[in-house]
Amino acid sequence: ATPTSIMVGTGKAAKMGVLFRKGEALQSLRDAKVIALDKTGTLTRGRPELTDLVVANDVDEADTLRLVASVERQSEHPIAEAIVNAAKTRGLEPATIQDFEAIPGFGVAARVDGHRVDVGADRYMRKLGLDVEVFAKTANRLADEGKSPLYAAIDGRLAAIIAVADPIKESTPAAIRALHAEGLQVAMITGDNRRTAEAIARRLGIDKVVAEVLPDGKVDAVKSLQAEGGLVAFVGDGINDAPALAQADVGIAIGTGTDIAIESAEVVLMSGDLRNVPNAIALSRATIRNIK
Ligand code: ADP
Ligand code: MG
Repeated sequence: ATPTSIMVGTGKAAKMGVLFRKGEALQSLRDAKVIALDKTGTLTRGRPELTDLVVANDVDEADTLRLVASVERQSEHPIAEAIVNAAKTRGLEPATIQDFEAIPGFGVAARVDGHRVDVGADRYMRKLGLDVEVFAKTANRLADEGKSPLYAAIDGRLAAIIAVADPIKESTPAAIRALHAEGLQVAMITGDNRRTAEAIARRLGIDKVVAEVLPDGKVDAVKSLQAEGGLVAFVGDGINDAPALAQADVGIAIGTGTDIAIESAEVVLMSGDLRNVPNAIALSRATIRNIK
């Protein structure tokens, strides 16, 4: 490709809101075979809401939500915001907490009003030696609805199952259809529950799901897609997407995401509109074709 044609191509891309930080990315994007996308904040809006709260026998629902929300006030995870908002809506006053701890990829813990409160994924409960089996039926139903089940334990006893749901972005279905029309394979990489991820993938027609990935595991997920399927472009927005963006053959960051994701990427989407991914690929193919 000539420098001039790359300049013209990146100029056209900028007009549609796609920033090529490196000109070579315009060429590598043309040869991408797999487009892997982060789920939360990339395929979905990244603003989940609490949808369900089911307590164990003899457990008070409002008390549980109040304790859990008090802990989540200290967390920066989007899930935390959903829980804090739900407690606020119900007029529950948060309590002061001590010894807050975040365990990335698992959950959060603290002492509240003399109680030990743990909130997180099923793998976190298992790590604490708690059996989530009593909620298995509920968890499966919620996950099949595309909701993410979480658990709360109070003083080492399983107290509740909580579900949060993050709406799919309006642009996502059309973006995936367009990627398929360009002959690309579409994959999802997420730290979320497998069953939830599969329900969402089914709804969107996504070809491949890598779920329950720990925060530092996204790089390995990209590596294995590269080993199987050739050139991989990865689209993400979060702090823990940065290494995967660097590992991918083309890293595409969402411009409204975290700075570290943007710095690790070759391509930046100025808005969260995912249709700009297939648009950028079509443009790269047209640009490179013209100079052959
Ligand atoms: P993702 O952003 O894809 O959800 P994370 O690695 O951030 O991936 O989190 C993985 C899982 O750990 C979450 O889906 C959730 O089940 C649990 N988790 C993480 N942080 C929290 C939190 N603050 N409150 C409750 N659960 C959490
Ligand atoms: Mg994300």
